[in-house]
This record gives sequence, structure tokens and C-alpha cells, in this order.
Amino acid sequence: MNHHELRELLSAYRDGEAAKNERSLLEEHLVHCEECARLMHGWAELGSKMKSIEGVQLPVGFSRRVLNNIRQEEEDTSFWMPVEALARKTVLGLSMAVILLVVFMLVTEPAQPVIIESYLSGEVQDGNAPSSLLQRESISKDDVLLAVMTK
Ligand SMILES: [Zn+2]
Repeated sequence: MNHHELRELLSAYRDGEAAKNERSLLEEHLVHCEECARLMHGWAELGSKMKSIEGVQLPVGFSRRVLNNIRQEEEDTSFWMPVEALARKTVLGLSMAVILLVVFMLVTEPAQPVIIESYLSGEVQDGNAPSSLLQRESISKDDVLLAVMTK
């Protein structure tokens, strides 16, 4: 095993979880590898410092202040709870309305389009109308006014 592979096993070795053959390999490696030895030493130092922290006393009223802060945060969030619930219900209601509208539009048959083809084809079939219009050179304003007035 090389340095990197052995270094991966250092944590397990420290916790006493390394296999017997791994332990002997690591112990031999720690004699020669300064970096891994330094890492092991650092962990040992950290562990001893953590043990010395256990005797630290919390200031008087610390737990009461923590509880008060937690209660204050709960009150702050509970103020917005009804607003948030209303917003959620509104969004849900609008979504349902849109879904129902789409379903309604899909289920009901679309209105029959007005077929104007017959009118157009009627004009085309009536061969006299276009030809009579074409015979006259143009429709004057007076013709249009007369048509509107007489209708
Ligand atoms: Zn090493």
C-alpha cells in the first residue's frame, strides 16, 4: 500500500477499527512518513483538548435565553402562518379553476364555425355580377352613397 491508501486507513486505525495486517502496515508507515505521523499527532492533540472542554460552565441563564429566543422565533413564524396558508389556498384554488376550465373546454364541443364558403361560392357561381361590375369602369362615390341611402 502506498501513502495515500494508508492515509485513508489512519482514521480507522485511530478508532481501533483497522484490521491486524493493516495495523502493522500503518505502524511501519508512521515511522517513515512524517506527514501521516503529524496527522496522527494532530488528532491526538485535538482529542485531548476536546476532553478538557467538558468542564466548561455555561453562563447563568444561558438555557433560559436560548429557550426565549426559540419561543420568539416560533411567534414570529406563527404570525405569518395564516397569511401563508391563505396564499397557498388561493394558489390552489386558482390552479383548480384553470384545470376545470381546460377540462370544460376539452369536454364541450367547440361552436360550429360559420361557413361562409357557400356565400363566396354563390358569388362566384353568379357569373353576371362580376362581369357587370367589370363592364362599368369604376364605382363612383355617388354610386356608393346611393346604395347606402336606398338600403
Ligand atoms: Zn504517509
